Amino acid sequence: VQAVFRSNLSHLLELMGSGKESLIFMKKRTRRFTAQWTKAAKYLAQKLGDIRRDQKQILVHIGFLTEESGDVFSPRVLKGGPLGEMVQWADILAALYVLGHSLRITVSLKELQSNLGVPPGRGNCPLTVPLPFDLIYTDYHGLQQMKQHMGLSFKKYRCRIRVIDTFGTEPAYNHEEYATLHGYRTNWGYWNLNPKQFMTMFPHTPDNSFMGFVSEELNETEKQLIKDGKASNMAVVYGKEASIWKLQGKEKFLAVLNKYMEIHGTVYYESQRPPEVPAFVKNHGLLPQPEFQQLLRKAKLFIGFGFPYEGPAPLEAIANGCIFLQSRFSPPHSSLNHEFFRGKPTSREVFSQHPYAENFIGKPHVWTVDYNNSDEFETAIKAIMVDPYLPYEYTCAGMLERINAYIQHQDFCVGPSPVPPGASTAQSPFVLAPNATHLEWAQNISSVPGAWPPTHSLRAWLAAPGRACTDACLDHGLICEPSFFPFLNSQNSFLKLQVPCDSTEWEMHHLYPAFAQPGQECYLQKEPLLFSCAGASTKYQRLCPCRDFRKGQVALCQGCL
Ligand code: UDP
Repeated sequence: VQAVFRSNLSHLLELMGSGKESLIFMKKRTRRFTAQWTKAAKYLAQKLGDIRRDQKQILVHIGFLTEESGDVFSPRVLKGGPLGEMVQWADILAALYVLGHSLRITVSLKELQSNLGVPPGRGNCPLTVPLPFDLIYTDYHGLQQMKQHMGLSFKKYRCRIRVIDTFGTEPAYNHEEYATLHGYRTNWGYWNLNPKQFMTMFPHTPDNSFMGFVSEELNETEKQLIKDGKASNMAVVYGKEASIWKLQGKEKFLAVLNKYMEIHGTVYYESQRPPEVPAFVKNHGLLPQPEFQQLLRKAKLFIGFGFPYEGPAPLEAIANGCIFLQSRFSPPHSSLNHEFFRGKPTSREVFSQHPYAENFIGKPHVWTVDYNNSDEFETAIKAIMVDPYLPYEYTCAGMLERINAYIQHQDFCVGPSPVPPGASTAQSPFVLAPNATHLEWAQNISSVPGAWPPTHSLRAWLAAPGRACTDACLDHGLICEPSFFPFLNSQNSFLKLQVPCDSTEWEMHHLYPAFAQPGQECYLQKEPLLFSCAGASTKYQRLCPCRDFRKGQVALCQGCL
């Protein structure tokens, strides 16, 4: 069956059920964005023309909202608790629905079981029940529940699962044997999924698929209105919970800020003003999302104190014409040194409160400064007014386009091509670029049919010692593409790059393929699941598969649609 774009979301709202505060929040959001989704659907339908799109049977099981996993978020919706996850799930549901797929939504174990066709109480039954879904979107909680209740079907069908995973899961943490042997174990387990099955909130590492969410888009008239209506000296502080006002050293920069700006906050409180919030701050309490947007439209500056990490709000602020001012972290925060990231399946070092805003948006919209350096801080505050800006990948059209590309092209059930130890190097798929430091895939020799992203976008680079492939590719204006690793993983690639290998070995290691200077040894990857863009060691020069990307849509290459 062909998928047909939908523009009426009322059936989706019914599917979403009711009762929980979290669902109410999500439904309000869906309602509010209906017009934008509809417009985006029209745009994408035109852009894709008559490209065939298959309609998929999709189950969305939101594990963290189930009572069985404790549902700690729903009771906090009205109290300043995290909302980012709900923003994202609401948008995923809307996107899948608008793209025309057939949807089931579950937020309890009972509903999950009945949709999977598993008789209650027969969780461990050895039968493999045929799965009535092509795709299942869930989270880590849901994954655990499915494993417990699907019996053998879980193994058989797990390639159809997509895990919504805010901060991402790197290959080294995903591979059970490797994680256990090398100390990459975390609370979230290791699932031996294809790392691309994990879908993140921001494009953290290309090892995972970037899912994202959407932010409000303004038309030209609205942009002008906002520009005219800005209070020249109004700042809003990022954060809904009073605890962020306790962060160390903030008095000094609050005093500087107060010299230039009227400071507003949206900190949740019960009856009295939260004592953590200084008296000169105008606190509005937690606002409903549309009112929060209105506040951002008036403000000139949105300022982060260092927490929460990587949420949606800075994007919304920038989209409403605010400058986002945030602190640089030095040393960077990571699972090694910060409680929040401890136990998360990633080694990523976070150099500021919102690395996406810093790296993908940057000045003039985003200023990342050392808050301990009063001069740098003060210069930033005096910074000029800027136009509203929203990256295309965070618009409804951008999200629809991306998810559609995933649904139509990503197939993890065919499995990564096995790596044959001592693979034959008979025919060279590469040509050496004239400057002899990187390889280009020779399209005319052997483009791999059906490969996605298409293999002709491959550019391979040998990274400097200690440089991760994520960074090495970015250095060249490209993005690391893990699905291309198998094409590089051969002696031939080293040969072509004129890497002087004294010997070559196949081993299991998340940094391979790589060249080790001492000993002049070349290493190839024995375990396809461990191909990883993330990760670096000064011992190795990694061989990195890069590709081009669309501006404002980093998940897709030029020829990826
Ligand atoms: N938000 C809100 N009311 C407020 C402040 C924020 O509804 O007073 C919304 C905001 O629009 C954003 C969401 O809360 O979409 C999540 O924001 P945040 O970046 O704080 O991420 P979180 O830590 O909640 O996941």
